[in-house]
Amino acid sequence: MAKKSGTCAFCGRKASEVRLLIQGIDAEICDNCAEQAHLIVKEQFGDGNRTYSHKGMILKKPAEIKSFLDQYVIGQDEAKRTLAVAVYNHYKRISQKVEADEVEIEKSNIILVGETGTGKTLLARTIAKMLNVPFAIADATVLTEAGYVGEDVENILVKLLQAADYDVAATERGIVFIDEIDKIARKSDNPSITRDVSGEGVQQAMLKLLEGSIVNVPPQGGRKHPEQKMIAVNTKDILFIAGGAFDGIERLIAARKRTNVIGYGAGGNEALDKNNMLQYLSPADLKKYGLIPEIVGRLPIITHLNPLDADALKRILTEPKNALVKQFQKLFAMDHINLVIMDEVLDFVVEKAIEFKVGARGLRSILEAILNDAMFEMPSDINATELVIDYTYAKAKLEKSGLQKLHVGD
Ligand code: ADP
Repeated sequence: MAKKSGTCAFCGRKASEVRLLIQGIDAEICDNCAEQAHLIVKEQFGDGNRTYSHKGMILKKPAEIKSFLDQYVIGQDEAKRTLAVAVYNHYKRISQKVEADEVEIEKSNIILVGETGTGKTLLARTIAKMLNVPFAIADATVLTEAGYVGEDVENILVKLLQAADYDVAATERGIVFIDEIDKIARKSDNPSITRDVSGEGVQQAMLKLLEGSIVNVPPQGGRKHPEQKMIAVNTKDILFIAGGAFDGIERLIAARKRTNVIGYGAGGNEALDKNNMLQYLSPADLKKYGLIPEIVGRLPIITHLNPLDADALKRILTEPKNALVKQFQKLFAMDHINLVIMDEVLDFVVEKAIEFKVGARGLRSILEAILNDAMFEMPSDINATELVIDYTYAKAKLEKSGLQKLHVGD
């Protein structure tokens, strides 16, 4: 029989002081506290209990993840959607308490393929920021097999551990971005012909991390030596996002598509969008490029980034939350100067970025070059309140800077 105390077990008010007392097994709750409790539940789990919260990390739904990415990254819709779903599933998997007979969700790491400077690192970084989990970037090119000069694969985890302030539990649910994974590809996809030791060895070592294993990490990084105390890190729940430009992979994709068409004979007139072959990317192409099948198997989520056209570059200048133009305006505003960059200047900057073949990565240096004189002189000019940059000014400053020469032949 339920006991009646006549007071709310949460706030202590008597039945006479509240509108309603709801009877539980051993206690009651008043209408006011029940409402508060409902709000807390809603805040934690959102509508329909579909937002998961895990150890201080609030996980949004895929559509919300994408909207968050939209604030920082221009375009790349397909990559954003794929990433949003992958990340959502990954952290759902982590928060799943596996009962003995339950379905265990397998980990799915991600590979992003796209030209350099199209937003691969930015996407990975932005996801980590949204989730509030530790994030580290590792460059695959510096990795070598143990015993060779270079960094051991374990050092990838050192960076993550440091990003987590040596909190092992936080490290174990972080995100690692492995850049330039294409650079450790085997030179030939026929292992019996070319024993490409460096590439294949590193891939084998990396496999261990991707699969999920307990790795002994030297906390200060560097080479392992016997006196150093190791920290054991389980990589089971670490999300690995690999990125690479895979220069020339379009040819492999085209060749495969052609073979398929001939092979099946049927029609063979599937129209291929030659300007964006990456959209047809498949695991087979990554293998052909020289990633070992085991690595490809451990990066089951494949997505591509599109090359950035003039329109995208222009939007990158002004639209993202931390857009370059906004950053420079803020810098000037700190000296009480209103910086106005005319639209024609934005077109000019984009045109130069394309001409210098530096993509989005070069936008900053071009703007820096244009604004550098003003940033030097204006803070000392106490009467200055506004700076308007037009095409003539921008062109003159960029030519003076010599930036153009710097990038020729890059
Ligand atoms: P990647 O990893 O593909 O080589 P990054 O993500 O490091 O390229 O991009 C380099 C810089 O260019 C970023 O810091 C960002 O300022 C800008 N950038 C690149 N792509 C985008 C994009 N799609 N949206 C907004 N900014 C971008």
